[in-house]
Amino acid sequence: MVYESTRDKNKKLYSADAIIQGISTDGGLFVPSSFPVIDSNLLLDMIDMDYRERAKKILALFLTDYTQEEIDRCVDSAYTHQKFSSENIAPVVSLTDDISILELWHGPTCAFKDMALQLLPHLMRTAMDKKGIEEDIVILVATSGDTGKAALEGFRDVDGTHIVVFYPAEGVSPIQELQMTTQEGKNVHVLGVIGNFDDAQTGVKAIFTDREFNRVMKSSGYRLSSANSINWGRLVPQIIYYISAYIDMVKAGTLIFHEPFDVVVPTGNFGNILAAYYAKQMGIPIDRLICASNRNNILTDFLSTGVYDCNREFYKTISPSMDILVSSNLERLLYEILERDDVELVELMHNLNEEGRYELTDSQHKKLKQNFWGGYANDAETLYTIKKIYHEFGYVLDPHTAVGMKVLYDYKNKIGTSNNVLVVSTASPYKFVEDVLIGIEGEDLIKDRDEFEMLDILSSISGTRVPNPLKELKDKEIRHAKRWEKEDMERAVAEIFDLGGVGQ
Ligand SMILES: *Cc1c(COP(=O)(O)O)cnc(C)c1O
Repeated sequence: MVYESTRDKNKKLYSADAIIQGISTDGGLFVPSSFPVIDSNLLLDMIDMDYRERAKKILALFLTDYTQEEIDRCVDSAYTHQKFSSENIAPVVSLTDDISILELWHGPTCAFKDMALQLLPHLMRTAMDKKGIEEDIVILVATSGDTGKAALEGFRDVDGTHIVVFYPAEGVSPIQELQMTTQEGKNVHVLGVIGNFDDAQTGVKAIFTDREFNRVMKSSGYRLSSANSINWGRLVPQIIYYISAYIDMVKAGTLIFHEPFDVVVPTGNFGNILAAYYAKQMGIPIDRLICASNRNNILTDFLSTGVYDCNREFYKTISPSMDILVSSNLERLLYEILERDDVELVELMHNLNEEGRYELTDSQHKKLKQNFWGGYANDAETLYTIKKIYHEFGYVLDPHTAVGMKVLYDYKNKIGTSNNVLVVSTASPYKFVEDVLIGIEGEDLIKDRDEFEMLDILSSISGTRVPNPLKELKDKEIRHAKRWEKEDMERAVAEIFDLGGVGQ
């Protein structure tokens, strides 16, 4: 299996190279040159396998340049019972006769990014070893909250890697800040930047593009890299849980083998829902892919009109991980919709860069609509959905998943479906405890409460346990207290890696 760039399909390479490079030098994203079809016998065999065994089989179809031993080692290091609170890693629970929920938040940071970021560091380190690259990897991340913590947990104590996370000291919630400042691990560095998220992100970009700095890093035995969501090594782990969920639904009798089902995905950067589309390409009987957005509903408009237009206002919402205007992974779907015409794709991306918009032809739009349907929920609707689902079923949704559930109800009303539906749940409700409690009980209940008291309130309302990683925060030692001016970010990295006077 080889990979190619969406912007130059003649640029072919193996998965290890794609994972090391992250993004192609032409600005394109790496995609498999064709999708492996997963045969019925393998699927049936998987019924009796656990998540890890399923993962090993599925990854072997994509990472053909890795040995099975290498894949096994990566999977065994990533999805451990120490790190995941659920025996099943990614369990499917049934809400009603025809709605199931795929819970992707049993990992160490209580959100779905763990599913990919627990595996990526191992895939990356193994790729470097395979290529004979001896330098240590230094991952730089600017974070507005969730990704940074998930990356810290993923890279923590992985040999031959280091991770440096910059977060805006004024731009994360108290719990998010605690999650980062108490981070354990011998290769982790967390730096508060005095400024906002854009300041942190601009600083990280400046370090990546400073050639002299990269050269000095290299001569000291380090190599800068990133862990962002366009890396193939973050996408491939996400395909696994769709296949695993299908098997689990067959095993539970929710579906008969080969029976079609719909999936609903709360969407931001389009990585998660794209993985579902890839699972469908492999032969998993997914019928409709329902793309759920918050008030930043650029994807809803795109799916209904065929016009992608980011010339619009950006809103901050209570589902912050979906507050995105340019969904980078959409490029990979476009590539398929354009029947892998890289020249036409470059043209659309050029339009996006120059004018902030592009437009599909009628036949392309039609093709898109065959597979996808889009809807959205504003904050009030999201809160209402949390309350409604809690009262009807005693199940508590986080705000991102609640967006998905609201959009599912819209889909059932407007289009209708007789299929079973799998709703992808992307975060634990405890992670967004304040808004969840506002949804269920209103503002009064949380007045003057700190976040740890809120965790306990949610626990007694829902009859579920506060996840350990959040509960333990209260008593953890602060390890990363130092704050930096945004002008000094490069100097901070130089200091960490003892690069002498560089970066002054
Ligand atoms: C990142 C994230 C999303 C969006 O996922 P994409 O793959 O970017 O579409 C949704 N919900 C939560 C909780 C997230 O952290």
